[in-house]
Formats: sequence, structure tokens, C-alpha cells
Amino acid sequence: MKRILVTGGAGFIGSHLCERLLAEGNEVICLDNYFTGSRENIFHLMADPRFEPVRHDVTAPYYAEVDEIYNLACPASPVHYQYNPIKTVKTSVMGAINMLGLAKRVKAKILQASTSEVYGDPAVHPQVEGYWGNVNPIGLRSCYDEGKRCAETLFMDYHRQNGVKVRIVRIFNTYGPRMNPHDGRVVSNFIVQALRGEDITIYGDGSQTRSFQYVDDLVEGMVRMMAAGDDFTGPVNIGNPGEFTMLELAEKVLELTGSKSKIVFRPLPSDDPRQRQPDISLAREKLGGWQPRIPLEEGLRKTIRFFQEKI
Ligand code: NAD
Ligand code: UDP
Repeated sequence: MKRILVTGGAGFIGSHLCERLLAEGNEVICLDNYFTGSRENIFHLMADPRFEPVRHDVTAPYYAEVDEIYNLACPASPVHYQYNPIKTVKTSVMGAINMLGLAKRVKAKILQASTSEVYGDPAVHPQVEGYWGNVNPIGLRSCYDEGKRCAETLFMDYHRQNGVKVRIVRIFNTYGPRMNPHDGRVVSNFIVQALRGEDITIYGDGSQTRSFQYVDDLVEGMVRMMAAGDDFTGPVNIGNPGEFTMLELAEKVLELTGSKSKIVFRPLPSDDPRQRQPDISLAREKLGGWQPRIPLEEGLRKTIRFFQEKI
């Protein structure tokens, strides 16, 4: 049995990860400041004596004897990370420093939840890990993109300078049950709008693309990455290469919900990437043939069921 710290454990992805790690027989410390996560997400885990929720902000140091750390604490939706951009940078950068310091002290392995946003509006398609990205350093998305890029730098420097056992995963758009209905991301927005019979808001003309991964596939990839040999630090892309335009996504959601909602067009936010698709050859090779198993339609059905019960 290992003792595992999950920062951001009460968030959408974190709660699924905590569930999986407990099911494997581990002790889990779930650290969260509940900015975008909630106790509701982890309520079903509370009765387990191996589960320990801790209210804490990663911008302050935290000490505990642990074997592994998954560092997920950071708001992920543009609406929330732009609400207090300075805090977002602090969470990414100071959070990484505090968690890496802890990993160094207690000799724990540590995994960083990085993002496809490190590629910015990519000039290389699909995105391979060797591509350094096309990121605006001074725009509205920069607090998130550059914060995550700096966190990757810190991970590699703690590895080179202090021998900390690090792993970096670059997560592409992930969706599933327990997304916050108000968090503004496209999958939750479209499903909630369709279920309520409200207009489906497409930003821009809807021709921009994203590649959507169901949360269970991501959790499998993260757990495999933590278990990979110490010589493989990543970064490694974890995502589903199936690429869709936002218009296609809206139509799919309308079809699966049977909703009569109308599609409406709204202004495109600044620096909104045109396209995104992961090249997952490295993950396939290094993570024991890992690849996403759940196609968009099946994942959307599960997510729609969750929101039907919630709203
Ligand atoms: P989320 O907002 O549901 O989860 C983030 C969690 O971190 C929340 O529970 C929040 O309360 C917590 N948190 C935020 N700031 C904190 C702080 N200062 N101290 C402690 N806790 C804090 O988002 P998510 O989609 O579950 O994302 C989890 C991680 O995965 C994030 O690091 C995100 O950047 C990364 N990621 C997610 C996606 C995606 O599509 N969902 C894509 C790429 C990367
Ligand atoms: N988007 C949209 N309507 C919405 C929310 C988002 O058309 O109600 C678009 C957004 O402009 C972007 C894509 O959907 O092009 C994905 O947005 P999201 O915020 O989910 O993720 P990210 O841009 O970080 O990949």
C-alpha cells in the first residue's frame, strides 16, 4: 500500500483519480482549496478510512510523508483561470515549487498535470512532444499557458539539479461526469444548454477543432505514467486523437440529447487555438500500449446521463 497525495483532488479529474487510487488499495490524501472543486465530488469517498481530505492552498508549503504526488491543483477552464490570473500563475508556479520541495524532502515520485495549452495556437499538427509551441506570453490565456510551461521547467530543473523523480503528462481536452456545470468549458456548456433547451453558444464560426478524451482514459494514462521507469520523465501527450470541430460537437450533443435547442454564434475569445490534436505515439510506446478506449459518442452518453441527474 502506498500513501499518495493528490493536489486538486476534489476537482473533476482529481476526484476520478482519487477513486482509482483507492480502488487499487492505496491511502490517498486529497488536498484542495475548493476554488473550482467541491466536497460533493469526493463525498462518496469520505467513508473510506484510507481517504483523507485536506483543505489547503498549494501556494503555501505542505508537509506529509508520502510515496507519490499527483499535482493537479490549478483551475482549468478559461473562465475560472482568468477570474484571478495572478493567483493562477501563483498556483502553477508556487504550487509546483512547494510540491517539488516536498517530493525532494521525502523522496517521493511526482507527476505534473500539464496541458496541451503549452503548444498554444500550434503551427505543427498534430502536436508532438518535441514541438516547443506558439504561445502568446502577454494575452488573457497566458496566466494559464505560461504558468504551466514554467511548472514544466521547474519539474525538469528539480530532476536535473536534485535528482527528483518527475513525470510530466500533457493533457488534451478531457470531459466526463463531475465537470462543473458552470465552468464554461465547451462539453459541459453544450450539454447543459441542450438539456435546459437554451441556445447552444458556439464561439466564432465553430470551425476550430479540439480532440476530446473521456476521463477514464486519462486516469489510466496518468497511473501508467507514474508507474513508468524513472528514466522516462516525459513530457508525454495523453489525449484522444479523434478531432472534431465545435460545430460537429454541437450537432452531436443535439442528436444525443434529442434537444430542440438552437445553435447561436458568439464572438471568439482572444488567442483561442484554431486546432488541437495529440500525436500519442510516445504514450503508446512508453506506457505499455496505452491508448484511449472510449469514443466520443460513448463518453458523451455517460456525461449526458450525469448532467441529467444533476440539473
Ligand atoms: P478542476 O478545476 O475541476 O480541478 C482543479 C482542482 O484544483 C479544483 O478542485 C480546485 O479547487 C483545485 N485548486 C485550484 N487552485 C488551487 C490551489 N491554489 N490550491 C489547492 N487546490 C487548488 O479542473 P480539472 O479539469 O479537473 O483539471 C485538473 C488538472 O488537470 C489541472 O491542473 C488542469 O490544468 C489539468 N488539465 C485539465 C484538462 C482538462 O481538459 N480537464 C486539460 C489539460 C490539463
Ligand atoms: N467554446 C464554444 N462554446 C462554449 C464554450 C467554448 O464554442 O460555450 C469553444 C472555445 O472557444 C474553444 C473550444 O470551444 O474554441 C474549447 O473550449 P474550452 O474552454 O472547453 O477549452 P480550451 O479552449 O481550453 O481547449
